[in-house]
Amino acid sequence: MNNGQKRGALAFERVTKRYGKSVAVDDITFSIEPKTMVTLLGPSGCGKTTTLRMIAGLERVDEGRIRIGGRDVTDLSAAERDVSMVFQSYALFPHMSVLENVAYGLTVARQPKKQAHERAHDALALVGLAELAARSPSELSGGQQQRVAVARALVLQPEILLLDEPLSNLDAKMRTRVRDEIRDLQVKLGLTAVYVTHDQEEALAISDQIVVMNRKKIAQQGTPREIFEAPADEFVADFIGNANVVDGEIRVADGKTARCAVSGEQIDLPYGGTRTGAVRIAMRPEAIELSPYEHGSLVTGEVSRAIYLGREMQYTVQTQLGELFVVCHRLDQIFPRGAQVALRFKAHGAAIVGAHA
Ligand code: ATP
Repeated sequence: MNNGQKRGALAFERVTKRYGKSVAVDDITFSIEPKTMVTLLGPSGCGKTTTLRMIAGLERVDEGRIRIGGRDVTDLSAAERDVSMVFQSYALFPHMSVLENVAYGLTVARQPKKQAHERAHDALALVGLAELAARSPSELSGGQQQRVAVARALVLQPEILLLDEPLSNLDAKMRTRVRDEIRDLQVKLGLTAVYVTHDQEEALAISDQIVVMNRKKIAQQGTPREIFEAPADEFVADFIGNANVVDGEIRVADGKTARCAVSGEQIDLPYGGTRTGAVRIAMRPEAIELSPYEHGSLVTGEVSRAIYLGREMQYTVQTQLGELFVVCHRLDQIFPRGAQVALRFKAHGAAIVGAHA
């Protein structure tokens, strides 16, 4: 049995979705492995929610095929697919207890009430809420309500668990906590999960694989580290790493490394090609070092914004390469607004983008 047929495997084959004449998802192909957590990440309007809803069977596909566990589900309704979804809004029934909410899907599937309640109890225990089973949803905090929504989806033991920006109604601290709990559960239970978010840090923190979407297409798929350290293009570099993209030149390239120049500063970067000449280089904010201006410095600038954040300084610097965003974790030397500085580039945190080998 090949991987595409294992329980939990998901494949999109050249899928397009239109609303009237406007395209919401444009000819996307990707696949995910069973028992992995995959995030669909991208800016508002890029097509990630539509993609998730097509997996759920809540949207029809105009072109292409979708397979789950090797089975072609393209023409199946939501009820005929073995998936369940956790919504942003939780969507709990206010007139039912927490336990009845969690048991709901099982009772609809005509499970005997006693058995349904037992399984709902188990699911609530998994998310740490067993003792709140008798409460009504309005008596819970936002984080607790979201955990109930997760339990309600888990109780159905779906082949694929779908989560649509499940943390967006929570405050920052609770978001990190519930995020980590969801990831722990997914690993512990060996679930296949697809998670939609526009938050890059959330995606980096929980994913085995990230599918970055831009303008209704897939910009890149890879592990968090691959996406962060080797972005496929300028969009991914900027969206994931807040990178500065600057003009440079490849002087020498041997198929592994390229010796590049950025305004005369030399930097060696990984590069599979041998082409030399003009190139775009993505430079993460942490990859730029500032020091006091000295005569003869190659890349220089003036600090136009300096923000103290306790653990780091964030600078905006006007340079001959344009405006650069710089993050410094060393706080022994702080540059005020108006300071004249020299800039150096570190190879770790920089990547060649948009150059065709
Ligand atoms: P967000 O993070 O804002 O939810 P998204 O990446 O999830 O964005 P989608 O909701 O998938 O994006 O939308 C993709 C495109 O399809 C957008 O241009 C959107 O305006 C359009 N779209 C989505 N739903 C509908 C609909 N029901 N009718 C018409 N157009 C739609």
